[in-house]
Amino acid sequence: MIVVMKVGHTTEELDGVVARITEAGFRSNLSRGVEHTVVGVVGQPPPDLKDDLEVLAGVEDVIPITKPYKLASRDFQPVDTLIQMKDVVIGGPELVVMAGPCAVETEEQVMATAKAVKAAGAHILRGGAYKPRTSPYQFRGLGEAGLRILALARQETGLPIITEVMAPEDVELVSRYTDILQVGARNIQNFPLLDEVGKAHKPVMLKRGMSTTYQEWLLSAEYILAQGNKQVMLCERGIRTFETYTRNTLDVNAIPVIQKLSHLPVIADPSHGTGKWYLVTPAALAAVAAGADGLLIEVHPSPDHALADGAQSLTFENFQALMEKVAQVAQAVGKPLAKTSANAIQSQRKRA
Ligand code: PEP
Ligand code: MN
Repeated sequence: MIVVMKVGHTTEELDGVVARITEAGFRSNLSRGVEHTVVGVVGQPPPDLKDDLEVLAGVEDVIPITKPYKLASRDFQPVDTLIQMKDVVIGGPELVVMAGPCAVETEEQVMATAKAVKAAGAHILRGGAYKPRTSPYQFRGLGEAGLRILALARQETGLPIITEVMAPEDVELVSRYTDILQVGARNIQNFPLLDEVGKAHKPVMLKRGMSTTYQEWLLSAEYILAQGNKQVMLCERGIRTFETYTRNTLDVNAIPVIQKLSHLPVIADPSHGTGKWYLVTPAALAAVAAGADGLLIEVHPSPDHALADGAQSLTFENFQALMEKVAQVAQAVGKPLAKTSANAIQSQRKRA
């Protein structure tokens, strides 16, 4: 249920609405748009609360939310969620790029990649220390040693880091190192994990599962939001279709659909979305053209020798080329690449 306040309502009237919601035993969520202030009632309020709120001073309308997800829905919060990551904002008017290896392998590998992606204009460094692998015999990550390497790379480059957490009991440890917690596709319905990252004081990127519907995805986001963590972004990483030529099919539709249904930022991952390095750039450009708030790109110093996802990883050179094309499309669709010291230097060089 949301309470739409009248234009020009007073602070006292707003306080009165919030007090009535609290009195009824519910939490409220304030969202100030350009025209309207909206107060969301968190939870499943009884229908008679609508009657009580409707008659309060300053109230324009009380609208029940019929969708099963509430906090994640745009009806509940009409304004976009913005996530500040050091110098950049995710979900705002600019495009943000996260890049790095699939898995943290060695300090040299991560350090070299961090420097290369930073120089090409990336904003956030990615790398997995806890790797969900289809086979138990594949490389499953360095664990905490990998987190330490990521932290060193952040220290060296200044790039914030994003890394996956797979188990509820690891959330506390991973949160001590990372700037953003990633919940992987395979854990989209690991409800104890969703609850735990919901209690963490770090932004969370929730990847779509390979056969997750939009509604299921938003309901998983709802788990995190319901625990009080509002810093949630969603990542489209491809779904499984009948096509076997590609690893997955990047669902470009998901980008505008989720942005219509929800206020949460949408990141596209054309690396897992295609599974082949030469498809990453075209799919990334399509995602940017469709309005994605950010990209997640796998980059490796030597993809042929990568311990995970080498086939879809870009070399430094290819990543640099991707960034140049992404910058053009981003500009053309009115969501320019967020400025960094690296891409400011590059555009200066181009102008000179
Ligand atoms: C990853 O980001 O490396 C990863 C494992 O992704 P996903 O969960 O989308 O498969
Ligand atoms: Mn990967």
